[in-house]
Amino acid sequence: ELRPWHRALRAQFPIVVGHPDLVYLDSAATGQKPQAVLDAAHHYLTTSNANAGRGSYPWANSTTALVEEARERVKRFLGDPEPDRSSVHFTSGTTEGLRTVARDWLPALLTDGDEIVVPYQDHQANLSPWLEARELLARQGVGIRVRELPYQEASGDYDPVELARVVGPRTRFVAATHVHHVYGADMNVHRVRQVVGPEVPICLDAAQSVGHLPVAVGDPDVDFVVFSGHKALALPGTGVVWARQRRGPEFRPGGWRGTPNTVGIASLVAALDWLDAAGTDRIERWTVALTSLLTDGLSGMADTYEVLGCRTSLAAGSQVQRRRSLVTFRHRAIDAHDLGFILFSHGFMVRSDGHCQAGRGKRDDSVRVSLHVHNAPEEMERLLSTLASLQ
Ligand code: PMP
Repeated sequence: ELRPWHRALRAQFPIVVGHPDLVYLDSAATGQKPQAVLDAAHHYLTTSNANAGRGSYPWANSTTALVEEARERVKRFLGDPEPDRSSVHFTSGTTEGLRTVARDWLPALLTDGDEIVVPYQDHQANLSPWLEARELLARQGVGIRVRELPYQEASGDYDPVELARVVGPRTRFVAATHVHHVYGADMNVHRVRQVVGPEVPICLDAAQSVGHLPVAVGDPDVDFVVFSGHKALALPGTGVVWARQRRGPEFRPGGWRGTPNTVGIASLVAALDWLDAAGTDRIERWTVALTSLLTDGLSGMADTYEVLGCRTSLAAGSQVQRRRSLVTFRHRAIDAHDLGFILFSHGFMVRSDGHCQAGRGKRDDSVRVSLHVHNAPEEMERLLSTLASLQ
């Protein structure tokens, strides 16, 4: 019943409509932009482009207001239950956002002997900043211990039983990911909150969930939500840190006192409006259904293709529904770069490398297909028949 809804939305992506022979399957890297986002950027640049917080003429004032209103818009989009107690900071993306939390907030939380729990198998952007914070603190004579957020290879989710063993009285902070960027697994952050208890701050990397499914900051109860606006259909160079001020020191990022990405922020507001109007719950149903077509098709070619992070779940037919808008797989005989090339010769644009996954080193061995609302079932069928021809 979502077909007419989808047709109307797909028609709003000029780059998709303009390239009927190409299929963009790399939305996890960056999203394509709907016309409303392009219009908002154009409108801003042609009517009121100025710097924020400077000058007393109308364009400067409206740009300052735009940035302030954008903070409130982000809070509304994230279903913030206490907008008066949270703050929103604009960055260039998730990488800079996580780095800012690690640099400008985490050190003040920690004292000698404290422990933090971080994911070693998620995106590198959600590991390096925490390890760098440990080095920085060590130079100041503060020794902290970094523990691994344990992980179940079979499901692609965190392991709550092992986590209970890792968490102790000195645990002060947990970094987690909402949707895994290689496995597409929906990480059970509620269970992480249950295991670590109500007092420990949690920072959530929501790069692969914002724009793909409803994300509500009160549920699970987290302290930071960091995401990339450019993956949520806004312009490149946009990112967000949403921070609550309840656990730990106040978050006062010092990094970007310079000129904010005002046109990016204008595009972000338009993207959030567009996503809300489209309905993130419907986007979720749509892309999960497409992903299921793909995993079902691939499971019928299991002799040739191995789907990463869901070996047992595919075999058992369980948990496949929890796979979000991306699937990563490898061909048992064809190298991932070659497979990427072959797929492009059929019009498919996919990611083929190591996907910046921490802990995997330089293993460029798989192909990631990642979707957004403009993708169509026919594209999945075309892709599956191409993959079938390579068996
Ligand atoms: N975290 C996750 C889970 C991601 O998927 C990505 C992007 N691939 C990032 C962080 C980094 O995002 P950005 O490049 O926008 O900083």
